[in-house]
Amino acid sequence: MDNWDVNNWTHKYGEMGSRDKKTGKLNNYIVTQTHKNGVNTFKCSCPATTYRPWLEACKHIKRLKEKLMLP
Ligand SMILES: [Zn+2]
Repeated sequence: MDNWDVNNWTHKYGEMGSRDKKTGKLNNYIVTQTHKNGVNTFKCSCPATTYRPWLEACKHIKRLKEKLMLP
C-alpha cells in the first residue's frame, strides 16, 4: 500500500451486486473504506445513493461492515 499511515488510509473492496435484469450480468461494485483519524467512512460505486440520497448506506456498504464486524 502506498503512503501507509495507520491513522489515514483507504481500502477498496469488491462487492457483488444484484443481477442485471436486462443483460443477465452480475453487477460488481467497489466499496471504498476511508479511515481517517479513527473514523471509518464508506463510499460505494453503485447508484443506490444517487437514486435515493436519503439512504445513508447501500446494502453493499452494510454487507461489508458486517464482514468487517464494524457497527
Ligand atoms: Zn452499493
